[in-house]
Amino acid sequence: MDSWHGRGGHVAGPYLLRVAQGLMYKEFGKGTLAWAANIGGYRLGPAMATERIQRITEANETLLSFIPIWEEHRHQPDIADLAFGNPQEMVIDGFSSALASATTPRDKNHYAYKFSEDESRHTVASHLTNWRGQQFEAEDIAMTPGAFGAIASALGALVDVGDEVVYFDPPWFFYRSMILSVGAIPVSVPVRSDDYDLDLDRLAGVITEKTRLVIVNTPHNPTGRIYPPSTLEGLATVLSEASDRFGAPIFLLSDEPYSKLVFSNAEFTSPALHYPHTLISYSYGKILLTPGQRIGWLALSPLMPDREALRSAIFMAQIAGGWLFPSAIMQYSLEKLDRLSIDLVELERKRDLFVDELRHAGYELQPPEGTFYLWVRSPDPNDVAFVQLLAKQGVLLLPGSTCASPGHFRISLTGTAEMIERSLPVFRKAIPSDA
Ligand code: PLP
Repeated sequence: MDSWHGRGGHVAGPYLLRVAQGLMYKEFGKGTLAWAANIGGYRLGPAMATERIQRITEANETLLSFIPIWEEHRHQPDIADLAFGNPQEMVIDGFSSALASATTPRDKNHYAYKFSEDESRHTVASHLTNWRGQQFEAEDIAMTPGAFGAIASALGALVDVGDEVVYFDPPWFFYRSMILSVGAIPVSVPVRSDDYDLDLDRLAGVITEKTRLVIVNTPHNPTGRIYPPSTLEGLATVLSEASDRFGAPIFLLSDEPYSKLVFSNAEFTSPALHYPHTLISYSYGKILLTPGQRIGWLALSPLMPDREALRSAIFMAQIAGGWLFPSAIMQYSLEKLDRLSIDLVELERKRDLFVDELRHAGYELQPPEGTFYLWVRSPDPNDVAFVQLLAKQGVLLLPGSTCASPGHFRISLTGTAEMIERSLPVFRKAIPSDA
């Protein structure tokens, strides 16, 4: 028990809490103050949090400040909750029965500690080989609790304290936290503002000899952009040249949880086809719309040289990271789950409806090529104020500030058709007539 005071938490903890409360209070109003005290403050106890967790809390300030607004409104009748990629209707047919069929124990080991089971690794490797046109090996697949677990395993295996990890803005909101959690330094690079493609010149400009990993997310949350082969080729060139210059490979983590959520006018290509030192993270939580049932994988590109050592490092990172393996039930139902999907035709219908209606009303947006999100320029540069305005009128959105991109908001197409219909007049009314 020597550590609480040694960490300086007795000073920084209450200070941080007061700062966070002050900021939240200023930005979002009274509801937030109570919430911050309840979740961020008293439960952790001011002197108990590590400095690392304090930094992570700070990194999530805007997101955490939005949660009380969402909580305040999301249970109201007739709310159109379009904020997060959560299900708003009953789970797809076949999901529960697939899980149920995996509950009957096959033998005494059914519910023993699970690693990456051979059968689920083989299912993933053969599925990937058919889908991606690359020969994936079962040994190169680590089964994980979703893409979250895959990213944590990759960071644990590859990144040391003080290493730099690069990702693109606007990011999925937890990259920064996860990088900080392994003691590494997050470095962000904005995507191009005109077409949301990767800005490779800027990427080249931030790579240093400390850069160990670059994270690319395609199809991209929140913009819906899928990076074309020409961009991926350019990305591979930047990374190969920098690796040669610094005498060590820079790894690429291609975060691809939405790679099956691709609209009919687009095509998905993985960076793993272009750059040998690529790891791919995936989650079934998106295509099945069951983010609470944790299963996904981390795959090594079949092009990666000398990857046996990395296989073992990932295995150790999964154990040391807190047993980052999915449960027996999730792994044994995988073959059945692999054949299921949410209704992609209906998803595309919702996208098209929103894109037409919002553009017609005067909003600026680019149609997403994949994911279940729409990324829209906020008519009020203060996106938080805009989101609050719409929340009061029954429509919940995610402010772009939560993804380090003020002046935008994100719509989730996981809302029901009725929610989307109800939201349209609210969107129309909210835009100034001269916009
Ligand atoms: N990566 C991206 C880009 C995401 O959007 C998400 C979830 O929203 C994840 C990773 C984590 O996925 P999961 O919670 O299914 O593990």
